[in-house]
Amino acid sequence: EVDRTVCRMGRVLRVQGLVSIVQMEDGRLLACATRQLLKQLSTELRHVVAAGDRVWVRPEGQREGVIERVEPRTGVLSRSSRGRQHLIVVNVDQVLIVASAAEPRIKPNLIDRYLLTCEKMRIRPIVCINKIDLVDPVSVMPLAGVYSQLGYDVLCLSARSGQGLDALRRLTAGKATALSGQSGVGKSSLLNALDPGLALRIQTVSAESQKGRHTTTTAELIPLADGGWVVDTPGIRQFQLWDTIPKELDGYFRELRPYVSQCRYPDCTHTHEDECAVKNAVADNHIDPRRYESFLQMQAGDDF
Ligand code: GDP
Ligand code: ZN
Repeated sequence: EVDRTVCRMGRVLRVQGLVSIVQMEDGRLLACATRQLLKQLSTELRHVVAAGDRVWVRPEGQREGVIERVEPRTGVLSRSSRGRQHLIVVNVDQVLIVASAAEPRIKPNLIDRYLLTCEKMRIRPIVCINKIDLVDPVSVMPLAGVYSQLGYDVLCLSARSGQGLDALRRLTAGKATALSGQSGVGKSSLLNALDPGLALRIQTVSAESQKGRHTTTTAELIPLADGGWVVDTPGIRQFQLWDTIPKELDGYFRELRPYVSQCRYPDCTHTHEDECAVKNAVADNHIDPRRYESFLQMQAGDDF
C-alpha cells in the first residue's frame, strides 16, 4: 500500500526510457523512476508505466520522485507489432474526430472508420465538423443528425469564427483528449483556438521525440490551459490504418448490432444472403443506407 501521508497523485505525461515525466496535482513536473517492486510485479517490463497513467508518487526533492503505484487503466490505445501488444497511451477519455465541412470536403465514410476504431477501443468519440463558416450550416444537418441519432456527440465548429468553441472547451476541460482526422481539416487551428500556442507546443514536442529512438512510438500528454490534456501520438494520426477484423465489424456499427443476431445465418455477411435482418432493416429505413454502404466498403477492405 502507498503511504498517503507522503505520496501524491500525478499523471504521467510521457515516458523517456526509464524515466517518467509526471505532472503533479499542483502542476509541478517531476522526473520519476519506478520502484523496483513494481517492475518485478509486472510481467511485461515495458508496460510498467505508460503515458497517461495515474500514479502515486513519492516526491524526492523539488524535481524528482519515485512512482509507487499505478492506478487501474481505461481507454487504452495500443498497437500490436510482431505479436506483442505495445501501449501507446492509456486513460484517454475521448477522441475528437475532426472533419471539415469544406476544403477538404467532408468524407462521411472516413468519419465512420474513425468511429469504428473508437468503438473497438471503447473510447468516447466526439464528431467535430470544422470550417462550418464555409458552408450553409443547414447543409451538414442531415449527416450530423445521423450521428447524433446513434448517440454520438456532434459539434459544428469554426476555428475561424469561433463558433462552437465554448462547447468544445467545456468538453475538453479536465479530460485527456486525442485528436484524429485527415490533414487540413483544422486540428491545429482548433487546438490554437482552445489554447493559444498549443499547436506549436505539440509540433515542438513531436520534432523532439522524432530525434530520440525510444520515444517515436509512444504518445505524450500536453497540458491544456483550462486543465485537461491533449494527447499527441503518431498512432492516432494513423488511426484508420489499424487492423480490424472484418468478421467482427458489424458489432462496431451501433445500429447494426441489434439486427445481426436475427439473420438466418450466424456468419451472415449482410451482403447477398437471404433472410438477412440487416438488409431488411436498411430496406425498412431503420438503418441509414449510407452507413450501410460504408459498412460494406469496410468489410470489403476498400481503401480511402
Ligand atoms: P490540420 O492539418 O488538421 O492541423 O489543419 P490546420 O489547422 O493546419 O488547417 C488547415 C487550413 O484550414 C489552414 O489554412 C487553416 O487556416 C484553415 N482553417 C482551419 N480551421 C478553419 C475554419 O474553421 N474555417 C476556415 N475557413 N478555415 C479554417
Ligand atoms: Zn445479415
